[in-house]
Amino acid sequence: MARKTIVIALGGNAIKQANEQGTYEEQMRNVLITSKEIVKLLKAGYRLVITHGNGPQAGSLLIQQEAGNKEVPAQPLDAVGGMTQGQIGYMMQQCLTNLIGDERLQIPVVSIVNQVRVSADDPDFNNPSKPVGPFYSKDEAEQLKVIKPDWIMKEVKPQTVEKRFRRVVASPDPIQNMEAIAIRRMLDSGLLVIASGGGGIPVVYDENRHLKGIAAVIDKDLAGAKLAEVVGADIFLILTDVSNACIQYGKPDEKKLGVLSYDEMKKYSQEGHFGSGSMGPKVNAALRFVEYGGERAIITSLDQAFEAITKSAGTQILK
Ligand code: ADP
Ligand code: MG
Repeated sequence: MARKTIVIALGGNAIKQANEQGTYEEQMRNVLITSKEIVKLLKAGYRLVITHGNGPQAGSLLIQQEAGNKEVPAQPLDAVGGMTQGQIGYMMQQCLTNLIGDERLQIPVVSIVNQVRVSADDPDFNNPSKPVGPFYSKDEAEQLKVIKPDWIMKEVKPQTVEKRFRRVVASPDPIQNMEAIAIRRMLDSGLLVIASGGGGIPVVYDENRHLKGIAAVIDKDLAGAKLAEVVGADIFLILTDVSNACIQYGKPDEKKLGVLSYDEMKKYSQEGHFGSGSMGPKVNAALRFVEYGGERAIITSLDQAFEAITKSAGTQILK
C-alpha cells in the first residue's frame, strides 16, 4: 500500500500558549512538545507536510517594527510574514531534526519561505477586519492615519480602554500556492517540508503578472487546505486547542462531533455552529479539502493527533 500523505496545520497553541509571553525558551518548549507528536506519525510511516499559524509572532514583530522605527525602518506586513516563517520554521526544523536523529530515521527537514497568491479584487479588501500589530490610543491612531494614509484603523476595545485602536487588514481567500511545484518535488524526494506558515505571504499579480506583496493576512487553515490540495494529500489534519468541533458550542446542550459526512458537516456549518474567526475557517478548510478530493479531514487537539490518524479520535469529515 502506498504511504499516505498528511498535511498538518498547527494552531497557535502549538508554538505559544495563551498564558505565555512568548519568550524564545517558552516557544522552543512548545515546539518540542509539538515535534514529539509529529515524530510519532513519521515513525508510523506517514509522509508529512507541515503548516502553522503565526499570529502571536507576527504581532510581536510588528510591535518591534514600530518601536524600533526611529533607528531602523519598519518593514511592511508581507516582509514580517516572511520573517515569522523563517523564525517558526527554524524552531520546528531544529526540534524535528534533533528528534528524527534520535530515532535514527533518515528524513531531511526543510522549511520554506512561501508566497500565496490572492486576488487584489477580493471582496474582503473592501471591508478589512483582521487586527494586526500594536494597540493605539485615539491620538496615536489619528497621527498614524496621517503618516500611513493606506492604513485602516478600527476601534477594537471598549471606550473605557485607552489603547483601543488597532490596524485592520483584509483576510482574502488563498488562490494559488506559488511554491507548489517546489514543495511537491521536495515531498516526492522524501523531505519533510514546512510551508505556507501564517497562511503564506500574501501576494498579488501586478499588471505585468509579476508578484508583489500586499498588506493582508490569509487564514492559515484555508491556505493549509490549498497546500493539501496541491501536494495531493490523503489526509488534512488541523490541530488546535480543542479535541473536537462542537455543535451548540458553549451551550448546555453542546455536543462534540465525531466522524461525520461532508453533507452533515456542511449543514452544521450553514446553521452557524462555528465561531467566525476561530472554528469556522477550520470547518470551511476541512470541507474544502474533501471537495478537492481529499479522503478525510480531521479537526482535533495535538495530544489526540496520533489517535485521530490511526483510530478515529477528534472530528473527522469523510467524503
Ligand atoms: P488556532 O490558533 O488553533 O487556529 P482558534 O483559537 O482560531 O485556534 O480556534 C479554536 C477555538 O475555536 C477553540 O478554542 C474554541 O474556543 C473556538 N470555537 C468556536 N466555535 C467552536 C465550536 N463550534 N466548537 C469548538 N470550538 C469552537
Ligand atoms: Mg488562535
